[in-house]
Amino acid sequence: MDRKPVHVAMFSGGAASAYVAYQMVLTHGKENCILFFTNTLWEDEDNYRFMDEVADYIGLEITERIDGRTPEEVFYDYRFLGNSRLAKCSEELKVYQTITFLEELRDEKNLEPILYFGIGPHEKHRADNLRDFYEHRPIEPIETRFPMIETFRADLDAKGIIQNEWGIKLPRMYELGFTHANCGGRCVRGGFAHYAQLYKVWPDRYNEQEEMEENFRKHFEKHVSILKKDGKPYTLKEYRETMDREGIERFLNAPDDTVPCVCSFS
Ligand code: SF4
Repeated sequence: MDRKPVHVAMFSGGAASAYVAYQMVLTHGKENCILFFTNTLWEDEDNYRFMDEVADYIGLEITERIDGRTPEEVFYDYRFLGNSRLAKCSEELKVYQTITFLEELRDEKNLEPILYFGIGPHEKHRADNLRDFYEHRPIEPIETRFPMIETFRADLDAKGIIQNEWGIKLPRMYELGFTHANCGGRCVRGGFAHYAQLYKVWPDRYNEQEEMEENFRKHFEKHVSILKKDGKPYTLKEYRETMDREGIERFLNAPDDTVPCVCSFS
């Protein structure tokens, strides 16, 4: 028997994915839609507030999947500290949770998922990667849709609509200047500029990451780090000391060779 389609918004906590979810529900009806979120337990508390308010506005409960470990616990399990180029946390806490959920929809409910992402035209390469991933990785290909690229006007202002028309305040990480709002600014793939921003805005949170890195290095007696400089480990402690010495400002736009994280739209 043919599977019935179900429309699944990949709800990341960002404005674009919220707007895409809203339009998806308008088009296909709540009864045929799912608002899906994978929780890493490191998210900023205001992201949860935003997501709850958006879910209320749309009138659809969030379907949440939680592995139960934090990224730090995944690093210990793999004896590998996630870094700017490779992060197992993303695979374990986000990708694996998503794939198993989609397989359950097919096997247990006889539904055929169609995935919706809030990726904008300026990130087209990420859309191509995701499309490719979902065409090949799971057992059967899964259809992906990118309404911000394929359907809506290029100049659509999702943030403005959410704030001004829906009356919902955006997650505070936007106004605090973070370009990556996942994992509460702690993302191990964030890179130099991101960690400078974290140190500037939330020094306590930066110190927690620094402590996590130091503990991991001691525990496994490995010279490893989240950031890399000239292809070599460069600890958050070293970075903090450099920022203290030279001033944070010059590091806020620091270039690096970070590989973008999939978490912002998965
Ligand atoms: S946002 Fe970064 S730290 Fe969090 S799960 Fe994804 S890769 Fe890991």
